[in-house]
Amino acid sequence: MKKIKVGVIGVGYLGNFHAQKYAAMDRVDLVGVFDKNFDRAKEIAAACDTKAFADYHELISLTEAVSIVTPTTFHHTVGMECLAAGLDVMMEKPITVTLAEADELIDLAHRQGCILQVGHLERFNPGIMALEHYLDKPIYIESQRVHQFNPRGNDVDVVLDLMIHDIDIILSIVKSPLKTIRSLGSSIVTSSTDVATAQLLFENGCTATVTASRIAQTNVRQLVIHQKKSSLIVDYGKKDITVIDRSGALTANGYPVEETTHLPFPGQGDALKAELHHFIHAVETRQQPMVSGVEGRQALAIALQLIAEMKEHQATHNL
Ligand code: NAD
Repeated sequence: MKKIKVGVIGVGYLGNFHAQKYAAMDRVDLVGVFDKNFDRAKEIAAACDTKAFADYHELISLTEAVSIVTPTTFHHTVGMECLAAGLDVMMEKPITVTLAEADELIDLAHRQGCILQVGHLERFNPGIMALEHYLDKPIYIESQRVHQFNPRGNDVDVVLDLMIHDIDIILSIVKSPLKTIRSLGSSIVTSSTDVATAQLLFENGCTATVTASRIAQTNVRQLVIHQKKSSLIVDYGKKDITVIDRSGALTANGYPVEETTHLPFPGQGDALKAELHHFIHAVETRQQPMVSGVEGRQALAIALQLIAEMKEHQATHNL
């Protein structure tokens, strides 16, 4: 079996896990890792039994595919260089900081015939994958992703850091064009937005409210989907789905009888492993990945619209 030669660029918190997952794959030859911080690259290379490169051009010249796990502000520059060299790219989320940058990456990937996958990891969450079976015209969606403060990821605001995961999931669930959006958000601890809430109204009538915070006291990650005949609650922390079924008999008062079932997430739940296997499968088969550059751009476009609205509010009130 021919192994795909892979490299990882940026091996901080998340890039370390990318390198570990590739190192464990039979179909992959992890050629090496690069990080601006060479000591960090050496540390991760030693743990993954691979080579640390001091120059990423050398790593690029020896690989067929890369994961780019640098801070978001470098995604465009590093991605353009890798795609120009003909490499397939697994780009961490958000795809880029601006839409113009995303368009350049998508266009270059297309011209080069390269795979461009974006790391919207939650799509590979077994709980989200299992939802498919229960979805039946969502009417009202509530998502909450609130985390305790962590200095990592603060090169971008909470919308690009956290909320974009839920925007991507909601877009993939509702499958209808967006009609209007409303958002509010405030900067509390960092110089950019730390807490945010948004309302998305879709052309098919579905409404979603999305809340994200990186200054919460406890971590909560939950997705609630209300449909006519059922409600679904995904608790990412507890790793379970609650299904409230209203499709049966009516009570004496004419309300539907609710039957509640708790389902643990299926499988072992290693979303990153599933995501990177999906990428390698796309590299081998040349099939479009589930979350391509275009989907990454769609989520970014909405995130940027939300951010613009929040900034206007913050500027008006000098917050
Ligand atoms: P991090 O700060 O822990 O790691 C970034 C690493 O990149 C550092 O080791 C740094 O030295 C290195 N680096 C900086 N500039 C570089 C460059 N130009 N070339 C090579 N290396 C460079 O950050 P992180 O939390 O690992 O986040 C990295 C990316 O992953 C971000 O885009 C972030 O949004 C994304 N991320 C995604 C998820 C998810 O759930 N999909 C979760 C966390 C982070």
